[in-house]
Amino acid sequence: MGKDRVLVTGASGFIAKHCIAELLQTGYTVRGTVRSLGRRDEIEQAVVSAGVAEPRIELVEADLAEDTGWSEAVADCRYVLHIASPFPAHEPRNPDDLIKPARDGALRVMKAAANAGVERMVQTSSIVAIMRCNKPDAVPRTEDDWTNIDTPELSAYARSKTIAERAAWEAIEGLKPGSQLSFCTINPGLVLGPALDKQLSTSHVLIRMIGQGVYPALPKLAFPVVDVRDVARQHVSAMTHINAGGERWLSCNGTLSLREIGQEIAAALPDLKRRVPTIELPSTLARMAAFLDRDLKAIRADLGKANLCDNQKSVTQLGMEFRSSREAVVSAAQSLRDLSII
Ligand code: NAP
Repeated sequence: MGKDRVLVTGASGFIAKHCIAELLQTGYTVRGTVRSLGRRDEIEQAVVSAGVAEPRIELVEADLAEDTGWSEAVADCRYVLHIASPFPAHEPRNPDDLIKPARDGALRVMKAAANAGVERMVQTSSIVAIMRCNKPDAVPRTEDDWTNIDTPELSAYARSKTIAERAAWEAIEGLKPGSQLSFCTINPGLVLGPALDKQLSTSHVLIRMIGQGVYPALPKLAFPVVDVRDVARQHVSAMTHINAGGERWLSCNGTLSLREIGQEIAAALPDLKRRVPTIELPSTLARMAAFLDRDLKAIRADLGKANLCDNQKSVTQLGMEFRSSREAVVSAAQSLRDLSII
């Protein structure tokens, strides 16, 4: 019997599976939410791949877009890791397809958690809720920065994550006084590290695209990178750390351009060298291409940006020791190779 019960929302997701493994290895009892109970075998196998011998997980069905299931999901839980949120590889025609479930889902989970007497809710936000702030490009971003959702060409995903995080912070203020629920966010960069199965997250789709040489040239994009195993540890640490409540926590360790990510992949898997693109697509061309390709629209606000982040708060106050961004890239590529994906 584990110690405290933790609810992990979106248990079928890449980051969530790693968090479940980390929680089970630390001795917690885990309940997960899924949109379909048919995902049980897949989740258990993924958690076994992460090194857990006995993947005992309770599952409850709940959709971010609906009220059903959430109070049952949080019952008897001491903590909630709210990780579920739509993260599609394609820019949607209607931004509300992402914004509504992200925002309304966070509020549903928070309301249920507060009503059930949960102690702390950790929400997986993103650096995209931080990066497009009004600071000069060369200045590294910190937890104090917020993306301006009126930034021209901002992707629907970045809007959804910023709006959902803002809504959660407003809602937690609204619960005071009277609620014992404490709240914090983890704001990861591009999450790489090992994929546990073939259900690829959008971050691994990017590695697959580079490894398979889908495009002949890479847009000038740079991402703060983090290894999923560190993201999982950080979620669990933020869940209980005495000073973590009421704070945002950046999760990243260095920024890599797509070209540098390609170089790391080619160095780790030399047989891919001829396929991995080495040329950078000028941003003017990428912008023109965005008129034809809906997915390229999602990257316009980030083209040519330095995208630097300062992770010192997480290092000094949460005691995080992050793996290198290189290790995050190489272990991601290696896992896709092991799964025969690249
Ligand atoms: P993922 O593998 O696509 O996981 C997303 C999860 O959200 C899935 O379990 C998905 O369930 C669930 N979900 C989506 N829409 C839902 C809805 N309407 N109702 C209930 N569940 C829903 O992506 P991930 O990379 O693990 O991302 C997890 C979280 O981390 C997300 O909040 C994402 O924004 C954040 N994040 C990711 C990265 C990254 O680089 N990967 C970086 C920063 C932040 P189904 O399986 O049923 O679709």
